[in-house]
Amino acid sequence: MGGRPRPSEPRGVTVSDYRSAWLDDELDLFRDAARRFVENEIVPNDPRWREQHHVDRELWNQAGAVGLLCTDIPAEYGGVGGDARHEAVVVEEMGRRGISSFGHMVHSILAHYVLNYGSEAQKRNWLPRMASGELVGAIAMTEPGAGSDLQAVKTRAVREGSEYVINGSKTFISNGLHAGLVGVVAKTDVTKGAKGISIIMVETKDRPGYRVGRALDKIGQNGWDTTELFFDDCRVPADWLLGPAEGQGFVQLMRDLPYERALLALGGVAAMEYALALTLDYARSRKAFGQALFEMQNTRFKLADVKAQVHVARVFIDDCIQKLKDGRLDTATASIAKLWITDTQNKVMDECLQFFGGYGYMKEYPISQLYVDSRVQRIYGGANEIMREIIARSL
Ligand SMILES: Cc1cc2nc3c(=O)[nH]c(=O)nc-3n(C[C@H](O)[C@H](O)[C@H](O)COP(=O)(O)OP(=O)(O)OC[C@H]3O[C@@H](n4cnc5c(N)ncnc54)[C@H](O)[C@@H]3O)c2cc1C
Repeated sequence: MGGRPRPSEPRGVTVSDYRSAWLDDELDLFRDAARRFVENEIVPNDPRWREQHHVDRELWNQAGAVGLLCTDIPAEYGGVGGDARHEAVVVEEMGRRGISSFGHMVHSILAHYVLNYGSEAQKRNWLPRMASGELVGAIAMTEPGAGSDLQAVKTRAVREGSEYVINGSKTFISNGLHAGLVGVVAKTDVTKGAKGISIIMVETKDRPGYRVGRALDKIGQNGWDTTELFFDDCRVPADWLLGPAEGQGFVQLMRDLPYERALLALGGVAAMEYALALTLDYARSRKAFGQALFEMQNTRFKLADVKAQVHVARVFIDDCIQKLKDGRLDTATASIAKLWITDTQNKVMDECLQFFGGYGYMKEYPISQLYVDSRVQRIYGGANEIMREIIARSL
């Protein structure tokens, strides 16, 4: 049977010569920079971050300095001045090394809210500092009593003169520990249902009434801080309301969902590509009954199935990325991507892990991390049952 196998670590993905049609030479150069950053600054530190349940705060400034934050925010607001494809490249480079610790995606989503709905003064105030990593972004929607049903949020923001006074608590907030700017989903009018919801931006530094809970202990994605946030008579200037008037929060959230869901799904595709590469490498080297696992027909057929699913997912997500870049990605299509790709991701991780036998159950082997990290993909960003609802409404 041979000795203890090494945890395989193929760099990059070599299982296909397929190339996404949305790529070009400039994006290849950008990818090289992103890949160097991931290999040098992230991969060596990731095990430590998983232990401490968060990345080091400096990572944000380092990523900002090399142009990996706010890549699709216009240069006039301090961003990199690229488009959705640049953001896609960053997501891919993290996913292709199984990195789930760095919450750049949530950061970008918040930056998009500011870009799309913020006043000129808000954009100039927050976006350059988000692009440099000085401000880490978080989005606080979920509460202990309101997850999928966002209209049930209880956090209140009451206008008092030139301020909003915020009271309530949020849970499961990604980047919660380091967040310097939080988009808080709150009720500004409790009588109006969805039309009574607003997004109030909160700069957190030295803010009385704002408190961050402990980093939550999750089954996966352990290097990414997820926390509770508490607002107790937390006062912010009234002009930190996002948008020109109260009551637009729900619509703002809905409009930006395709962006979030496409990137989440892309992360799933990249993680599957990595898992397939790892598994092929392992199955070729691991021997049992006098032959490599890969020589067995069951292995070959199962991995052929995996390859087929990953390839279909890749082609579909590439279409979504192109549409996202062109401003043509609709909510139903983004929901299809999120639903099908993250469901498939979970099946693929399970199939791949099986080939590693007991070693696949050991944290030392990246496939085990990919397996646990993937589970939440069907829950956050809108549970997959909500995706089915949205898709069904489009029928
Ligand atoms: C690691 C992690 C990170 C997160 N990051 C953030 C963040 O940064 N910001 C933030 O605001 N939130 C965040 N969340 C919260 C996440 O978005 C919610 O957990 C998710 O929306 C589901 O809400 P819930 O947990 O309250 O589950 P519930 O709403 O209670 O739903 C539980 C289950 O019920 C089923 N269900 C619910 N509604 C329906 C329906 N209409 N039809 C059929 N079935 C249904 C689904 O299976 C669902 O999974 C994060 C969560 C996790 C675990």
